[in-house]
Amino acid sequence: MPFRWSFLSTARALPEREDVALPVGSVPVRWKRNARARRVSLRICPVERLVVITLPSRIGRRQGVALLAEHHGWVREKLAALAPKVAFAPGVEVPLLGEMHVIRHVPEGRRGVWREGGAILVSGERAHLSRRVADFLRAEARREIAPRAQALAARIERRIKRIILKDTRSRWGSCAPDGSLAFSWRLVLAPSFVLDYVVAHEVAHLAELNHGARFWRIVHMICPDPEPAKRWLARNGQGLLRYG
Ligand SMILES: [Zn+2]
Repeated sequence: MPFRWSFLSTARALPEREDVALPVGSVPVRWKRNARARRVSLRICPVERLVVITLPSRIGRRQGVALLAEHHGWVREKLAALAPKVAFAPGVEVPLLGEMHVIRHVPEGRRGVWREGGAILVSGERAHLSRRVADFLRAEARREIAPRAQALAARIERRIKRIILKDTRSRWGSCAPDGSLAFSWRLVLAPSFVLDYVVAHEVAHLAELNHGARFWRIVHMICPDPEPAKRWLARNGQGLLRYG
């Protein structure tokens, strides 16, 4: 029992967030406890724009700071590379299928949210604009993704159970064994050829739930040149997380 008490009080002493001062400058950190973790680990959270340090139980803050100090170069580089967040507001530019569209507020408009020329026009009250743009982009994502997925699934004679749109941060798409496909709505921000590749990739998983040679043969059959899309995602994918 005394041991349990001391453990609990240690865990409570850990602040949730803090700016950890290192000789090179301070780094924003969010501390996380994970009883199942085997060792201390670091990752960058692009949304909170900080480092998440996971500590196994009974490992103290000091060891987390030591690991952070060891990797401070990498951490600071990654944090610096995170461009500022882009909130949906009038005058802000948002890519739609890779082309910049400026958000315009038209309070007197009667049509909801629509696309016109290089703009996304939003009617109604200013207070609802951000949410309505987000809803619009999700709907556009479904409108772009669903027909592509159905057409490719038909080519390889597979059936899609359903298509789900998510706001996943670490993957662009996924395929469940029951034939459900999930995609990040943010793909609608990327150029069309990128969308084509991610859809082809997940549809190919309807036939092969792995990344083996047969899987890639199917991908190449329904998306003949996936390399530019893979390169685009590696270079620009993270940037899509800035919006909204
Ligand atoms: Zn895959």
